[in-house]
Amino acid sequence: MVGCPFSCVVWDLDGTLLERGGLTPVDGVETLLAAWSADGVEMAVATSAPTGLARRVVDELGWSSWFGHVAGTGPGVVGKDEVLVEALLGLGRVLPDGAVGAAMVGDAPTDVAAARRHGLTAVGVTWSGTPADVLGGADLIWSHPPS
Ligand SMILES: [Mg+2]
Repeated sequence: MVGCPFSCVVWDLDGTLLERGGLTPVDGVETLLAAWSADGVEMAVATSAPTGLARRVVDELGWSSWFGHVAGTGPGVVGKDEVLVEALLGLGRVLPDGAVGAAMVGDAPTDVAAARRHGLTAVGVTWSGTPADVLGGADLIWSHPPS
């Protein structure tokens, strides 16, 4: 397992950690999350799903211990930009300094845009079918979970 190049990783859920539109973990992500968590990488989820639903899903998958915070949408928190800020705050990271060493990993242009807007490294993933050129603003493109 490759070591994590970041001190903090904020993950999108649908199409990134989970197969798009479902509750099936993407092959390889559980091994990766377990390893990076054990290495002390701070991790959070930032999803456009409602926070309560997202927390239930993460809990039912048995993933809760890997994440310092699970942030979704809700009152006053709309859109990936705001969810990302919530996710970082939940890890005790206040912007702009909180972005240092942090990456946002996601399969949508909104994930890439949120990362860039807040000064995180933007990692676009193509394993759910998003073409790399759609994620053109990303600093890095991952076609498979690092292994
Ligand atoms: Mg997604």
